[in-house]
Amino acid sequence: MLTKEQYEITTRKGTEAPGTCLFDVHGVGIFRCMRCGIDLFHSFTKFDSGTGWPSYYQPISPLNVVEQSDMSLGMVRTEVLCARCNSHLGHVFDDGPPPTGKRYCINGLVLKYVPENKL
Ligand SMILES: [Zn+2]
Repeated sequence: MLTKEQYEITTRKGTEAPGTCLFDVHGVGIFRCMRCGIDLFHSFTKFDSGTGWPSYYQPISPLNVVEQSDMSLGMVRTEVLCARCNSHLGHVFDDGPPPTGKRYCINGLVLKYVPENKL
């Protein structure tokens, strides 16, 4: 079951308020799609972007996400979706840190963090 907010994000491409869900993660683990459970991001690739949304410089596998052009709100952005269940996750921008220079700006409410010792 999805909460109303999770439904808004995953199905209607909504965006959570900044600071909603930043995951204060210090150990090693995996961020999964909260809807279908596929592995999306590794804690190694998480960085503090200062935006208020969880940010990563690359997905666990390019096969696990779909990136597509999003022209909504009068901007050209690249939307990031779950490759398995097609849930909207967030957007990817070209102002991230090395080694990729990418910033995957993801809604924390659609992620489920699993520490390494629980995998
Ligand atoms: Zn999914």
